[in-house]
Order: sequence, then C-alpha cells, then structure tokens
Amino acid sequence: MFTNRKELLKLCTLSGTTEIGRNCNFVEYGDEIVMIDAGYSFPGQEMYGIDYLIPNVSYLKQNKEKIKAILITHGHLDHTGALKWILPELGYPPIYAGGFAKALIEEKMKEYHMLDKVKIFGVDRKSQLRIGKNFQATFIGINHSIPDAFSIFLETPNGNVFFSGDYKIDLTPANEPQTDYEKLRQLRGRIDVALMESTNATNPGKAPSEKEIFENLAELIKKQKGRVVVAAFSSLITRLYSLIEVAKITKRKIVLSGRSLDQAIDIARRKRYITAEDSLFIKEKDINKYADNELLLLCTGSQGERFAALNRISLNEHKFIKIHKGDLIIMSSSEIPENISTIGRMTDRIIGLGADLVKDTIDLKIHSTGHGNQEDMKMMYDLIQPRTVMPIHGPLTFRYFNKQNFLRWGMRDEDILLTDDGQTWLLDGHTWRKGKKVESKPILIDGLGVGDTGDIVLKDRKQLSEFGMFVTVLNMSEKSKKIIGRPRFISRGFVYMKGSQELLKEIENLIYDIHHDWEKQSQNSKGITIENFKDAIEKELSKLIYKKTEREPIILTVII
Ligand SMILES: [Zn+2]
Ligand SMILES: [Zn+2]
Repeated sequence: MFTNRKELLKLCTLSGTTEIGRNCNFVEYGDEIVMIDAGYSFPGQEMYGIDYLIPNVSYLKQNKEKIKAILITHGHLDHTGALKWILPELGYPPIYAGGFAKALIEEKMKEYHMLDKVKIFGVDRKSQLRIGKNFQATFIGINHSIPDAFSIFLETPNGNVFFSGDYKIDLTPANEPQTDYEKLRQLRGRIDVALMESTNATNPGKAPSEKEIFENLAELIKKQKGRVVVAAFSSLITRLYSLIEVAKITKRKIVLSGRSLDQAIDIARRKRYITAEDSLFIKEKDINKYADNELLLLCTGSQGERFAALNRISLNEHKFIKIHKGDLIIMSSSEIPENISTIGRMTDRIIGLGADLVKDTIDLKIHSTGHGNQEDMKMMYDLIQPRTVMPIHGPLTFRYFNKQNFLRWGMRDEDILLTDDGQTWLLDGHTWRKGKKVESKPILIDGLGVGDTGDIVLKDRKQLSEFGMFVTVLNMSEKSKKIIGRPRFISRGFVYMKGSQELLKEIENLIYDIHHDWEKQSQNSKGITIENFKDAIEKELSKLIYKKTEREPIILTVII
C-alpha cells in the first residue's frame, strides 16, 4: 500500500509506562505523528494540593504541526483525562474514539466549554482509518470494564505497532460482544512491537467473567429481605449494567448516590448500553416512600473517600440514607492498597450501625478486574504472536513479571523490551534500538492552573502540613534602621507560644545579633539591603529552630 522511500520508524513510550495512569504514547514517521491516548494520573500522598498529573507534551508541542490524530483505546480517565489540557497546547488535533469514549469525552469538553473546538470522530469494531500519508489504524474490539474498548493496530511504511489497551479475555461478557479473536489472529506475523498492559501480570489463572459476577450478585440480592446498598466504581460501566439488570430481576427500585455514578449511568443510558425506564430510578429523598425490600441503592465511595456517599452514610452524615438493622452493604469493588485502612474504618462504622456486610472473596466473587490475568494475557499473546513486546501500564515489578510470563511462553529475552517514560525506539525495518529520551517529567495540575505549581510550591505545602509556619514581625525605623519595640512572633501549627517562652527569648536575641551585624555591614557597603537582613533572619532562625525542635516550619519575616 505504501510506495514512498522508507525512513526510520520512531515509537515513544511517553507516559504511563511505569505506573497505572497517565497513558500517552506516540508513533512518528517522516513528518507525521499519531498519538495514542492522553490520560491523567492522581498524585501520591506527598503532593499537597495537586489534583492531577498529565503527560509532558513538550516534544509534541514543538512538533505539533506533525500531529495527525489522537487515537483513544477506551474511555477511562487514565487514557483520556489529560485531553482538556493537552488539546489546546497541540492545536486540537482530531481525536478518534469508540462511541462510549467519545460520549464521555464530549461530556467533559462541554463542561470545560471546549466542545466547539474539539474534532472528535467515532470508531467501531469495523473501523480502519487512513491517517495522513503514512498511517493506517485498525480498531479491534476487546473486553475491559467499559463498553467500546479497543486494541489498536497501527501500520506505517516501515513497521507496525500494536497497542493492547486495557483488556481481558471475557468468554461471557455482560452486555457486549466478545473480543474480536479473528481480527487479532490476522495480525500474526505483522506486529513489529506490541505494547502490552501489565496490570495483572502477577495474577495466575483467568480473570473472572463479568457474567459470573452478575449471577453471584443476583443470587445474593434475591435472598435479601431488607435494603441493599452496593458500592461500585463509577468507571466500571459493565458492573453498573449488571447491577441495573439485577434490580430489574429482583423488582427493586434504584437509588443513585454520588455525582460520578449519576453521570456514568446517564451517559450509558443515552448510548443505549444500559436500557432502563425512568421509573426504575427514584430520588434519594423519596426512599422512605418504599419498603426496604423494594430498594437497591448504588453508591460511590468504595475506597472510603472522605466525601463520597458510602463514607458519609457510615458517618451518619448522609441527608437521606441512614443505615439501620437489616440493611446489607455489598462492596462490589477491589481495595486499592493505600486505602485499605481507611476502608476498614468505614466498614467498622457500617457494621457498628447494625448493617450486614459482604465483600468480594475467593468463595464469593462479586467483583472482577477489567484487566486480564496471566491466562488472559497468554491467550492474547497466542493470538497475535508479536515479534517483540514492550510491557507497559505498571510499575517495574509488574512489567518484570510480565516479561517473565513472555519468557515462559517462549519469547527470547532480547525480544522483550523494557522501556521507560519518554524513551524513544527506532525501527530500521528489522531491529528496534533505543533512541534519545524526550522530556517526560509529568506536569502538575492543581485547582489553579496548568503546570504553574512547581517543586517549590509543593515543598512549601509539604512543609506547612508537617511543621506549620513561624512568622517574625519587626517594626523598623526607615531612617535610623533601628528596631522599634520588641519583635512579635506568630505561630501556626508550629509551637504553642505560651509554652515556648524560652525558645522565643532565644529567637529574639538571635534577631538582635543579626540586626547588629547587618547594621555594621550596611554602613560599610551600599549593596547591603533590607532584603539581606530578612534573608539572614530566615536562614539563621531555621537553623536555630531545627537545632532546638528538630522541626522545619516555614519561616517568614515581615518588616513594617
Ligand atoms: Zn481502563
Ligand atoms: Zn488503564
């Protein structure tokens, strides 16, 4: 199909390689670039006040006229959440996404008043697109935990790249066709590198089917005589579908509690992925009009998030939903490791209020991952048989074990490439070699704006939260440069002033010493300013305070 002279193919695993989140990769050939996904991630606990991290698109920005398309594997925010910030920087290149992802993206864009600028096109299981002069993209239907999830096969004149996307091989999916095995099989012998997700690389066996989860939930809820409250992830649309079907079977009305759930179900109903009459849903404020056994409450907060519905219910601060004896709470979710103790405290409170609790266990599966386990991964590998693979979408340990899997399945060590964020790879038609790294340090986003929160701001927030703040207020004569009266001190979250008179006396004396030195210096040299005095106070005070208290509050000096 291609006739032009061959150039090197460049692939860059820009972001999302070493973690689960912030996915963004691109392929460059000649003067054209195609991007795959543009997600965000959530910051670690030490990043105070940061809402999201997004991929660093410096390289792409410098080459923005080359960008022909952004292809989206599926609608989860770790694959789409950064579009809001990235699109304006890159001049709004066209986006190609499955129907469901398209609806979710459009919803967000509407919220940000960007919809009129965004060019977004829907794709389906039959889609094959010519992009620019050099690319052809094939979308291959797979199963995940959200409808319209795809693997993407990208062909260029000098090599082909396969992106697995997030997937599992579900032999009995809840409300969608199975993975398109035939199309995957047709890729055999044509894939020069496959970027494979590593989320569950250490989990043996096969990921449970969504059908099994559906049946277990139906069985469990059928037996209940009281109210049933289910906590589920609003991003797992497949599960929400199952729960709504269970409500129909068990003749219960659905009550939705949590904004993200409302939105997810609204879009799923509009896309006809979930079909349900309006009369199936009732408002939170109306729950007392129904008998307990007529109610199925779906709520957010499976991770114990402070302001999410289930946590507010557990704290008895929910306006309409009060737990009482006979209620059953079902956690149809997994526990993210860093949330385990928070979730534990929440379920303690729930049980304390008299409710029963069911969690996902090996004996009773009421939650299934959307990411394949080792057996699913092996099936995918057998279908596509790529020449080389790159484990992505997971920390190094996950990717290391993913590599072990591929070795066990017969791949050669040199054909399994461990990559890094920002790493480029060059294909000369035959072998991949590492190219130069591009800038990939994530961009921090807080409520205030893009990337204007640098390391210093973060350090300040960390310091404030750990040690508080100590302010010295000095009244100084402009003319004589003498300190008038005594210094005043203000402490917030640092020391209790009344109990620290000794320390404050030392600080006061230190300030007089510094003032004395500074006065002498400024008489001898014109270059010495009041800023030098302030800096010296802050520097010396922090040394003294650290020596005396082993704490590092933020130290400020105000001269009036
Ligand atoms: Zn996903
Ligand atoms: Zn993902």
